[in-house]
Amino acid sequence: MSRSAAFTEPAKKHLGQHFLHERGIIQKIVQAVNPQPGDRLVEIGPGQGAITFPLLDRHGELTVIEFDRDLIFPLTEAARAHGTLEVIHRDVLTVDFTALAHNGGPIRLVGNLPYNLSSPILFHALEHAAAIRDMHFMLQKEVVDRMAAGPGSKVYGRLSVMLQAYCHVTPLFTVPPGAFRPPPKVDSAVVRMVPRDPATVAVQDPARFAAVVRDAFGQRRKTLRNALSQQCDATTIEAAGLRPDARAEQIEVAGFVRLANALATQTG
Ligand code: SAM
Repeated sequence: MSRSAAFTEPAKKHLGQHFLHERGIIQKIVQAVNPQPGDRLVEIGPGQGAITFPLLDRHGELTVIEFDRDLIFPLTEAARAHGTLEVIHRDVLTVDFTALAHNGGPIRLVGNLPYNLSSPILFHALEHAAAIRDMHFMLQKEVVDRMAAGPGSKVYGRLSVMLQAYCHVTPLFTVPPGAFRPPPKVDSAVVRMVPRDPATVAVQDPARFAAVVRDAFGQRRKTLRNALSQQCDATTIEAAGLRPDARAEQIEVAGFVRLANALATQTG
């Protein structure tokens, strides 16, 4: 029996499928990515190709990572009219971005991400930050607000500090639910992340840094002295230039880096 290349499957909720159809938004994403000759573009979750085909038309080649097997054949078939598409049929969380970059230089990640996996995908990308030139992602607006927030904001938290320590985070534009089929319940936003030059990232011990940030924000109302009592005392907090009675939401990213580095030095 011959298979049809048409996208006939209904959207799958468990895979976070909300397909973009607003041409103006798709154009804005392609403009934001602004592919240049020689760029190695990798799209996460191409779905029915809303961003894939315009990117292919502009750039000629693209690698996509898609988990839904029902989309692989129609995507591959439809792509022929647009350019050279490499399809990786995998869960993106199992894809080694560093290995991808070995074959052609640092990658540029693009994706209208499945919202249920936003944070795991962001943290997975951070682990491979040295292999990534930049990222342009569509996410829930509320997540983008958290990613870009600074001290004093109600939404400043673990995600803000972890991402900003390793990347420059720039929210680009908001996208309403009506731009997708089916529409999600919330507003979305496109964000650009550019990993900092590994030589300038000040975090000395990533695991220690992650533990400090996790515990500091574990109970937002606690002072640093109490929230971090398992990891350090008030003297160490002061030596890092922070007030032990301050709360995590008041501390800038560089403060967490100084504290984690001081602890990493102490414990050798
Ligand atoms: N890019 C398309 C668009 O803008 O219309 C689809 C975006 S849709 C929000 C998310 C896409 O990610 C879907 O195609 C879904 O099948 C795919 N996806 C979900 N979980 C995935 C995973 N673990 N690994 C790779 N792709 C995944």
